[in-house]
Amino acid sequence: MDIPAKARAVIIGGGVVGCSIAYHLGKLGWTDVVLLERKQLTCGTTWHAAGLIAQLRATQNMTRLAKYSQELYFGLEEETGVATGFKRNGSITVALTDERMEELRRSAAMARAFGVEIDEIGPSDIQSRYPGLKVDDAVGGVWLPKDGQADPVNITQALAKGARNLGVKIIQGVKVTDIHQADGRATGVMTDQGPIEVDYVVNAGGMWAREIGAKAGVAVPLHACEHFYIVTEGIDGLTSNLPVLRVPDECAYYKEDAGKILLGAFEPNSKPWGMNGIPEDFEFDSLPEDFDHFEPILERAVERLPVLAEAGIQTFFNGPESFTPDDRYILGEAPELKNFFVAAGFNSVGIQSAGGAGMVLAEWMDSGNAPMDLWDVDIRRMQPFQANRSYLKSRVSETLGLLYADHFPYRQVETARGVRQSPIHDRLKDQGACFGEVSGWERANWFLPKAEQDAGKQAAYEYSWKRQNWFGYSADEHNSVRNNVGMFDLSSFGKIRVVGKDAEAVLQMLCGNDVAVPDGKIVYTQFLNEAGHIEADVTVTRLSSDEFLVVTPAATVRRDLHWINGHIPDGAHCFAMDVTVSEAVMAVMGPEARDFLQPLIPQSLANEDFAFGTAQPIEIGHGIARAHRVTYVGELGWELYVSTDMANHVFDTLMA
Ligand SMILES: Cc1cc2nc3c(=O)[nH]c(=O)nc-3n(C[C@H](O)[C@H](O)[C@H](O)COP(=O)(O)OP(=O)(O)OC[C@H]3O[C@@H](n4cnc5c(N)ncnc54)[C@H](O)[C@@H]3O)c2cc1C
Repeated sequence: MDIPAKARAVIIGGGVVGCSIAYHLGKLGWTDVVLLERKQLTCGTTWHAAGLIAQLRATQNMTRLAKYSQELYFGLEEETGVATGFKRNGSITVALTDERMEELRRSAAMARAFGVEIDEIGPSDIQSRYPGLKVDDAVGGVWLPKDGQADPVNITQALAKGARNLGVKIIQGVKVTDIHQADGRATGVMTDQGPIEVDYVVNAGGMWAREIGAKAGVAVPLHACEHFYIVTEGIDGLTSNLPVLRVPDECAYYKEDAGKILLGAFEPNSKPWGMNGIPEDFEFDSLPEDFDHFEPILERAVERLPVLAEAGIQTFFNGPESFTPDDRYILGEAPELKNFFVAAGFNSVGIQSAGGAGMVLAEWMDSGNAPMDLWDVDIRRMQPFQANRSYLKSRVSETLGLLYADHFPYRQVETARGVRQSPIHDRLKDQGACFGEVSGWERANWFLPKAEQDAGKQAAYEYSWKRQNWFGYSADEHNSVRNNVGMFDLSSFGKIRVVGKDAEAVLQMLCGNDVAVPDGKIVYTQFLNEAGHIEADVTVTRLSSDEFLVVTPAATVRRDLHWINGHIPDGAHCFAMDVTVSEAVMAVMGPEARDFLQPLIPQSLANEDFAFGTAQPIEIGHGIARAHRVTYVGELGWELYVSTDMANHVFDTLMA
């Protein structure tokens, strides 16, 4: 098929995700859509997926999307005539430790709240549902009757057929080689068969999506990892229609198919792949076996399901899949380029996620806004540095295994740490800080008291479902702030300067609250969209007649900047920029905050001179700063905004 000269949208990538987006755009009446696949549909990662289709995800919104995928795959055969092989054989997850059982119980409670059918079951019930499974060391498990499995290739073909029936063009053997843009928006693609002028580009390029994004100047932080499974030869007497089985404590999942067992693994210390790019001719390919890597999983599996010992291995499969720094996929309009949408990085759940992800992305493109809260997977949570390949290689070696690790509260990643640090990081460390990571920032979450440090104790998390090891330290910090005064580092706060003659008018349009206030006034407000829904939760400080500072959480600064920039009218004299790293922020809060700070600052901090909700320049030590009188501890407090070069000096002045 020839490529058209123009189209409303081009979708790059004919895996399950691209085909789902094509199908859902078609459903919305977008018929002038072209899906381009460089080789053949499913030839990237989709063709070799195991096909596990679960309903329960970590949050309510992600669960909603996974449930939608299931319902869609269930009905596609009737609509398209292509059988998806979807069957509801249920799933069992087995706990071998009390801690895992606690996690399963909590997920069961969550599942019920999300409307997912789930039962807690004991070892004998597990065995009756999965004959031959060794359960004498099992603590218990959960049974999800509506989970199932399907054939990933046929799901994709069914979606593609559905899309074609709705008028979408699917063209195979055409590679997108570049992205065209003008005035900050995507305007077309170049292919190996010529250009196509478009209004929208969708990057559904699977593990190629990072490189495709880079052509457009868009960060798509994902990296391929090797993912292993084996398929046995036929096993005599194997019960047919066995449920999907997960034994996360042994990093293993099992799927029965046509009298054989597929055994897959999510092991710690996984193997990143494709560091120097993915070979040009990659098509329905697999990677070399690595039996030494898989052997520990297989050994435990043979003990768990002894019938495996009698079965030969028909296939040893190793295929690449893309993983992201936080094990959540990447969806939405790129903050760097208007009308350039991304749907990639599916962390081994792309088949079960594609239906829902395709549906919401199509609606997002159609209406201009995300149709529901998609923050879990929103591309704007990603930081530009996260597309760094060395960072990704290090991080994804951990994230694959984290899928089946114990998901303890407060669990921190261990790889690729320390990338973004507050200017006072080392001083906080000297004080006994235990750091956690958000958006690449190292943040002091709690401090080990001096006496314990002197006794040789380390400031480190000891993960537990019960009372945390740092509970007492945190309680002491809390009581200090409640009854006396405390200081905390908030330097990772996102800071956006909005400047220009029209800055006030633009912010008045975006904010729910009135920000046409006198210089030095701080306004707590939300950005609201056309439907009145909350897009951001920020403070806006008027620094001068044509200069405002928007302060937002570290994780949302890109999203909020994107929202502001996307709403500055053409021709308006208004400019927004991320100035997060220009200032450190030290909060001094508690009922004694004034008595503590006043001797260090010549300006009066008295109520009548420094009212709540205002900001003033101050002198402190030998430096200068801007003090904002706000609080979120229910007590008196100031935030000190200090240019980063003076941060250590101000810290030392406060701590002297
Ligand atoms: C061993 C294994 C088991 C898995 N098991 C499961 C499972 O049980 N359940 C589950 O939900 N998920 C599973 N997955 C994950 C799932 O397979 C993936 O998440 C999913 O297939 C990703 O789909 P995709 O469309 O994003 O990527 P892909 O299928 O890789 O599609 C991307 C397509 O883009 C094309 N492309 C790239 N660059 C260009 C270009 N420049 N121009 C045109 N086309 C381009 C590629 O050729 C490719 O076909 C598994 C993965 C692996 C590796």
